[in-house]
Amino acid sequence: MDALKRAKRKFWIAVAVTVALLAAIVATCFSYMSFEAPSTGILVADNGAMKAIRYPAGFRSLPGTPWSVRVHRLQVPWHWATLVPAYREDRFLPTDPLICSLSLPLWPLLLPPAFIAYRAHRATRRLSRAGCKHCGYSRAGLSAESPCPECGRAPTT
Ligand SMILES: [Zn+2]
Repeated sequence: MDALKRAKRKFWIAVAVTVALLAAIVATCFSYMSFEAPSTGILVADNGAMKAIRYPAGFRSLPGTPWSVRVHRLQVPWHWATLVPAYREDRFLPTDPLICSLSLPLWPLLLPPAFIAYRAHRATRRLSRAGCKHCGYSRAGLSAESPCPECGRAPTT
């Protein structure tokens, strides 16, 4: 497979991964998924963020929900604050023990595949111009082996 085909395939795979991740992140804004470890804590994906909530010592989960994964409709409205990491300590009542929670936004997961797609797109454009693979200078009228007149590099390296 030549470099152009490889770059095109890389571009579409990276776009597909970016779109799938974006769809999953948007889906967490309409419903939320939780994984609960009994009396220990709960992992919640909602509002485009992943929250880890540590239950205080002695906290008892409701009976009948061991090691559960559940999908619920969202109860908390979306807020800009979910776009940045956050650490909170909360209690339901002043006499209750502290509940610690860490919230990490999910959008940074989009950056690597989006960056790969951007790079692959640029490589595709550069290669499809059929000029020099290194600098893009036109190779019209040159033989296949002759080095690039602009950057001096060989066509195959
Ligand atoms: Zn060149």
